[in-house]
Amino acid sequence: MNSSNWENNIAIAGVGLAAAAVAMRLLSCGFRPLLLSRGLPEIKGVEAIPESALRLFDALELTPALQMADGFWVEGFENAWASNESAIRPGRYIHVERSSLAQAAIAMVIHQGATVVSSNTIAPLVVEKESVRLMVGGVEQRFAAAIDATGRSALWSRPIKRHQRQMAQIFSTSGNENLLRGRIVQFLGGWAYRLGLPDTMTVGVVSSHHTSYEQVQDIMRESLCLPSTQLHLLGRRPVSPQWAEEPIQDRRLAVGDAALAYSPIAGQGIRFALSSSLAAAAVVRTWRDSPAERDYATQYYRELVGAERLRHLSNIDSLSVNQPPPSTNPTQSSFSNASLPSTVYYTGQTKMTGLYINGLIKYTEAIALPDGNLVRRLGNFDLLTMREFCIAPRATASLIEQLRGQLLSQTEALYLIRWCLERNILSTADL
Ligand SMILES: Cc1cc2nc3c(=O)[nH]c(=O)nc-3n(C[C@H](O)[C@H](O)[C@H](O)COP(=O)(O)OP(=O)(O)OC[C@H]3O[C@@H](n4cnc5c(N)ncnc54)[C@H](O)[C@@H]3O)c2cc1C
Repeated sequence: MNSSNWENNIAIAGVGLAAAAVAMRLLSCGFRPLLLSRGLPEIKGVEAIPESALRLFDALELTPALQMADGFWVEGFENAWASNESAIRPGRYIHVERSSLAQAAIAMVIHQGATVVSSNTIAPLVVEKESVRLMVGGVEQRFAAAIDATGRSALWSRPIKRHQRQMAQIFSTSGNENLLRGRIVQFLGGWAYRLGLPDTMTVGVVSSHHTSYEQVQDIMRESLCLPSTQLHLLGRRPVSPQWAEEPIQDRRLAVGDAALAYSPIAGQGIRFALSSSLAAAAVVRTWRDSPAERDYATQYYRELVGAERLRHLSNIDSLSVNQPPPSTNPTQSSFSNASLPSTVYYTGQTKMTGLYINGLIKYTEAIALPDGNLVRRLGNFDLLTMREFCIAPRATASLIEQLRGQLLSQTEALYLIRWCLERNILSTADL
């Protein structure tokens, strides 16, 4: 790695999915990522990725990794959280073995030009205002930034905090073509899940106590609806929500589980590994390309991780025996087409903030939502256009016409208006 041109050198600790994602994005922005691996095998296991997260694989140009890792489409998810009578949660999921996915993604970034160095231990960082220094192979090197992608180890991002303390025992058993769909259940003292691929099935048993092999067999038979078969222990993984107190500090950022590890019950870990990597790469690029916006970029990332953490912890706290686990699908609107008001006007509140726009963080105006989040766009639509269109009360029908002139379909225009009404960006003057 060329040390004289260190402004484009980025050190990344870890070789998991978040490391691959951030490296991929940085490569496309002209950076030179150096990934540091400790060369140890990972705990295997099948994981489920909701279809909604696939746009992130696309944005990161990592979709081929899903095929390379033999990702398998599965329809629906059995939610038997409240009782043994399972409700099928609709939607499509890709089931994939986690270490195969990470390896495929890392192979892709190596192919694109990233370097991977293996060593037993990774040196501590010396973080400075404008750069970081790190010993690699006995030589001190300078980097524009260091990214901690070491998962729950959070090697460079200590101190961390945890919410509760639970462990998952992860088992593998033989695959069954008829039992591919995921299933989640509660048992006295914990919860369990199964996730299938044609040639293997993962069973996870989560509890704050050790669950004996016999108890696991009972849970498998009675709650997970699996035949009694031989189980092979793959390993134990912590599952409680965990986060770095400072996910960004000077030139060091944490991504994926190192920044915020979700409870697997949310099914959001992979999505966050990718979305935080996309955001972190935009922050590093902003530091280099728009130094005037540097502090806003740093603040943007801190707030992004903080908001995700608060949302997740509140979901976890609201989980009680009778409530279903949080859905990974977006909430449905309570405004039906027929119930749209006849007139609407703009009532959004705006605030200046750092926002992700085209791969950079820009200081700009955004709309404050009732839940405290700030947004500027819904899909490709700039929400501030609503202020322009509806500064005075106007007929909803004519607003729909105007939105259609912006190349939105009728359905998209109706959805957008409903979405804005539900979030007080639009209000109605109807009685
Ligand atoms: C039981 C369980 C089931 C889950 N199921 C799902 C699911 O179905 N869907 C979903 O979306 N998410 C799921 N998750 C969450 C998901 O696994 C993680 O969010 C995701 O793997 C995070 O990726 P990462 O790259 O940040 O971390 P990891 O995948 O943990 O990668 C960390 C990398 O850092 C390296 N590393 C670690 N420590 C050190 C060190 N000290 N020095 C150097 N390198 C180090 C590791 O070797 C690895 O390369 C589950 C989690 C658990 C625990």
